Amino acid sequence: MKNLVVSDIHANLEAFKNVLEKSGNFDAVWCLGDIVGYGPDPNACINLLRTLPNLSCVLGNHDAAILGDMDVRLFNQEARSSIDWQRTHISIENLSYLKNLPEKINLPGCLLVHGSPRYPLWEYILDPFVARANFDHFIENFCFVGHSHQGLIARWDPSREKMDWNSNVNGNMYKMKPRMILNPGSVGQPRDNDRRASYGIFDEELMSWEIFRVDYSFETTQQKINDLKLPGKNAQRLAGGW
Ligand code: ZN
Repeated sequence: MKNLVVSDIHANLEAFKNVLEKSGNFDAVWCLGDIVGYGPDPNACINLLRTLPNLSCVLGNHDAAILGDMDVRLFNQEARSSIDWQRTHISIENLSYLKNLPEKINLPGCLLVHGSPRYPLWEYILDPFVARANFDHFIENFCFVGHSHQGLIARWDPSREKMDWNSNVNGNMYKMKPRMILNPGSVGQPRDNDRRASYGIFDEELMSWEIFRVDYSFETTQQKINDLKLPGKNAQRLAGGW
């Protein structure tokens, strides 16, 4: 079983399409939330996601905001403007799709959440201390998270009482060993100074995890954002990956 793991698509259709094109054959798709927010194509991204095989998808904080389940004052100005625009442009059908997304999905040996197992919608796992605390909040061997828009492998080894922390994970194949927190990075708005779309492949046969980066026409996404008069910052950041 080969699983394509994507997160934080953020309504960036060009990036999402290229990830699907370059990622080859996969048996299932795991999506870690934030399909919408920031970008110009919320409906097209949800429509495309829903066509994918064996899809498991959790709710992200931007998805919750579109639903009105989250106070938009908690978001920065640029994120808020996009949420307000998307709310009035999302189809009824896609709204009800988002409404049915769970905050957590338990699969055999694996947990899927957007932010962290402790606080699925809000917490960022950006350092070993937060990761360590979160290992007490799930029982599965592997927990897949998004939200930070940065790739990550964090492994807690209880026999050594030690955390192996690796956030520089592009292009290497890692052997999966219990227990780990894994982040595939962001499809639609990477924040590690590399503008290329990011995704992960979890191969259950090889028990391997690999993060890939692919180029896409970010200029097209920028143009759409500007044409729609969405905040310019949401376009600018795509060029630098921040
Ligand atoms: Zn996000």
